[in-house]
Amino acid sequence: MEVKVVKHILEANERIAYQNRNLFDDRGIVVVNLMGSPGAGKTTLLERSIEALKESTPMAVIEGDITSSYDAERIAAHAIPTVQINTGGACHLDGNMVRDALPELALDGVRLLVVENVGNLVCPAEFNIGEHHKAMIISTTEGDDKPGKYPLMFQVSHVLILNKIDLLPHLSFDMERFKEEARKVNPKLTVIPISCTTGEGLETWFRWLEERTRGKA
Ligand code: MG
Ligand code: ZN
Repeated sequence: MEVKVVKHILEANERIAYQNRNLFDDRGIVVVNLMGSPGAGKTTLLERSIEALKESTPMAVIEGDITSSYDAERIAAHAIPTVQINTGGACHLDGNMVRDALPELALDGVRLLVVENVGNLVCPAEFNIGEHHKAMIISTTEGDDKPGKYPLMFQVSHVLILNKIDLLPHLSFDMERFKEEARKVNPKLTVIPISCTTGEGLETWFRWLEERTRGKA
């Protein structure tokens, strides 16, 4: 019984996600669904990305949080179109929430829309929102065992950003083990180690974003 209900919800979501995706394609906008735990560095990564890509890649951002508009305020300070979705308790975004937020965004001229999902390593991985790419960010402080414990998020993601590598000297995080575990659950996963604090590795991430966006003139 329960299984049926869940299946129905996911199927209904797939239809709306498909409609969102068509709308993005019609407008020539590449959409990235950015997922990760609370505190992994999603919003900070976005702030760095906006500053770096300002000239080359007009961006807009949808912020997803259970409550508050802290993150949208941080992003809006960088003078790009931003809208906050408050899920009111739900621990992930779905296609419907994203569709309802779109009229609030000035999308003319926008080439890249990044949707920052609710901080959560589990169910955001189950819900498509109409994105072209799923990106996940995890920080070294979360531990090198996470790919094996939360495999779905690693399986569905196209790129994995490993943040806070500047903290490695203080942690027992084993980089080789982490990469090996991640590739075990998703052999195609691109891993980009970065530090938003020192800036290390960020260029690689910016190029990844630019390449995805450029293909969609
Ligand atoms: Mg955030
Ligand atoms: Zn959820």
